[in-house]
Amino acid sequence: MALAGRVIVIANQKGGVAKTTTAVNCAIALSQSGLRVLLVDLDPQANATSGLLGWNVPRTSNKTIYDVLCDPDNLNEAVIETRSGLAVLPADQDLVGAELELASALQRESRLRIALRSSLFCEKFDFVLLDTPPSLGLLTLNGLVAADSVVIPVQCEYYAMEGLRSLVSTVARVRERFNPALQIEGILLTMFDGRNRLSQDVVGEVRSRFGHKVFETVIPRNVRVSESPSHAMAVVEYDPRSSGAEAYRQFALELAGRNGNGPNSGLC
Ligand code: ADP
Ligand code: MG
Repeated sequence: MALAGRVIVIANQKGGVAKTTTAVNCAIALSQSGLRVLLVDLDPQANATSGLLGWNVPRTSNKTIYDVLCDPDNLNEAVIETRSGLAVLPADQDLVGAELELASALQRESRLRIALRSSLFCEKFDFVLLDTPPSLGLLTLNGLVAADSVVIPVQCEYYAMEGLRSLVSTVARVRERFNPALQIEGILLTMFDGRNRLSQDVVGEVRSRFGHKVFETVIPRNVRVSESPSHAMAVVEYDPRSSGAEAYRQFALELAGRNGNGPNSGLC
């Protein structure tokens, strides 16, 4: 059965592993297949926000994720519809201050969870995807506490395993202290380069260590993916026929399928 309101955080404390690329492309691909999606940008760099809204697009509201973390009542006003079935809860650089300002606040790690789950807000969507910054600070913690599961993008590069081990132990600690239901949805191998022996070794090592937790889809390194942000677009819209776009559509199907929204559910 399809699970409505599934909250999935995309996390890895390493920067540049394709968290934002995955969040934006997956959100668009899921919405293109008829699912209702909300993308929450928890990164002060706000790359997911510009990936969905473009630059300098007039906004209907000035409220952002920062206002929601300060006061959950701002949620409805802050969410912006971007395309049919795809909404964003945007970030801007104000979010840099949130980490410090919330440090002494009550329930500081549960702010997002309270906002999304009160009045069943997340049930309006099939998927709520959370993009996180490259650190394990309070913003990422809010993501992990709010989520049902975590997708871990892993770049097919040297040191990949190190970051992965440390995130897996963070997930275990979050589960113990704040969110017992948190699951590892899966590990997504990104920027795979078939000509590169190291890429192949990383895939082999991650698959042998984490088995079925690794998504079957592997995202190839593809220049169209890296070009698309300079046009403030995601590759699934910038060049839908590129290998990167195809892989992200395939990944979105796999993710939806794991959550009961597969081809046989009539939704995709
Ligand atoms: P993170 O959010 O983890 O810091 P990004 O999604 O911003 O990582 O990606 C880091 C950089 O790698 C960006 O410049 C992005 O365009 C590029 N990139 C991501 N995925 C691919 C890919 N499959 N092929 C080529 N470049 C990629
Ligand atoms: Mg990012």
